[in-house]
Amino acid sequence: MRPSLLLYSPPAQAPAKSKHMSARTNHQQDASAALPQPRPGALRIPPYVAGRSSVPGIAKPIKLSSNESALGSSPKAVAAYQEAAANLHRYPDSGATALRAAIAACHGVAAANIVCGDGSDEILHLLGLGYAGAGDEVLYTGHGFVVYPMVAHAVGATPVAAPERECTVDVDALLAKVTARTKIVFVANPNSTGTYIPTADVARLRAGLSAGVLLVLDAAYAEYVDAADYTAGDQFVAAGNTVVTRTFSKAYGLAGLRLGWCNCPAAIADVLNRLRAPFNVTVPAQAAGIAAVGDQDFLATVREHNSQWRPWLVQQLRGFGLHPFPSVTNFVLVRFPGGAAQADGANAFLTARGILVRDMKAYGLGECLRITVGREDELRAMVQSLGEFLGPA
Ligand SMILES: *Cc1c(COP(=O)(O)O)cnc(C)c1O
Repeated sequence: MRPSLLLYSPPAQAPAKSKHMSARTNHQQDASAALPQPRPGALRIPPYVAGRSSVPGIAKPIKLSSNESALGSSPKAVAAYQEAAANLHRYPDSGATALRAAIAACHGVAAANIVCGDGSDEILHLLGLGYAGAGDEVLYTGHGFVVYPMVAHAVGATPVAAPERECTVDVDALLAKVTARTKIVFVANPNSTGTYIPTADVARLRAGLSAGVLLVLDAAYAEYVDAADYTAGDQFVAAGNTVVTRTFSKAYGLAGLRLGWCNCPAAIADVLNRLRAPFNVTVPAQAAGIAAVGDQDFLATVREHNSQWRPWLVQQLRGFGLHPFPSVTNFVLVRFPGGAAQADGANAFLTARGILVRDMKAYGLGECLRITVGREDELRAMVQSLGEFLGPA
C-alpha cells in the first residue's frame, strides 16, 4: 500500500459543463451544479485513521495503539472533572484564566504567553490559520505528525515534507526545503517515531530560518523525555517567532478531555485568541487541567512507570530479532526485518487476540508497528502473543 500521508492527488474537479447542454439541462442538474463547493484544500486532506480501539467479538481489547497513558488519569483530575458537572449550565471562562495561571506556575512561563485549546491539535490548526494561506508552504518532516499536512491543506497552503534520517528529524534536510514561501515549520520533538533532537539542533534550525518563519515545536511527549540534552524549547519563544505546543493527552492521561496549550510570544497569543472560538476549552476540561498540573506526584509515577517498562519492551523486541528505534517517549516504533508482510501478519495476529497496536501506513512506514508502553500486564500479554507469532528464534 502506498503511504497516504505523502500522496497529494489533485482534488477531483467538477466536469466542465458543455455550453451546448445548457438549454436542455434539467433543473436537477442545475441544482447539483450549484451546490456548495469546498475550498480547494479540503478534499486533499486524507481522512484521519485513528488508532483502533475495538475488535469485533472482544469485550476489552488491550489498546496499545494511541500512546495514551498506561496509568489512566490523575484521580484528582477525575474528581475535579466530576465536580465540574455542577456547572455545566455555565459557559466556561473564555480566557481560561485559572488554568493558564496553574500551567504558568508549573512551567515557569508567563500566563500572558499561554493559549489553551481543544487539544494541541486545535492550536496547530489555529497557527496554520493565523500564519499560512494560499501560495504559502508549510514545512515538516516525513514522519512528523499527520496533523501538519492537514493544517496546510485546511488553510489552502502547500504541505512540504523533508526527509528524515533514521526516522529522526534532520535539520539540514529541513533547511534545504525552505523557500521564500515557507511560512511555518512544524517539528515534532520528540517525533512521532519516538526519536528526538537535542536542543543544540533546534537552535541550529532556528538560526537557519529567517526571522519571519514561524517555528512550531510540538512537544506532546516532552514529559517523558529524560535526555539531558533535550528541552521542549521554551527558551526560543522570547525571540518572537517560535511556539512550543503541549498537551494533556499523553503523560497527563486526559486524551478524552481534549486539552492542549502553547507557550507563544504575546503577539502570537493575540492572534490565536482572536481566531479561536471564544469558548474552546470546556468547564470540565479547565477544572481537570488545573487539578492535573497540581498533581505532579501522579506525573512522576507515570514517568517512573515509563522509564521502567519502555526499556523492558525494547529489550523484548530486540530479543525477537526485531528492530526497535530509539525512543524517549511512551511508545516504541519497531521495524520488522520481514518487511510490511511480516508487520501486517503480526498486527493481524495480535488483533485476533484482542491486542491493538498501531500500523504506520499513514506515515509511509508499512514495515513498522508502533506500540504504546502500556501497563505491565498489557505489555506481557502483547510480548507473549508476538512471541507466538514469530515462533522460536
Ligand atoms: C498525541 C500528539 C499530539 C497531541 O494532540 P492532542 O490534540 O493534544 O491530543 C500532538 N502532537 C503529536 C506529535 C502527538 O503525537
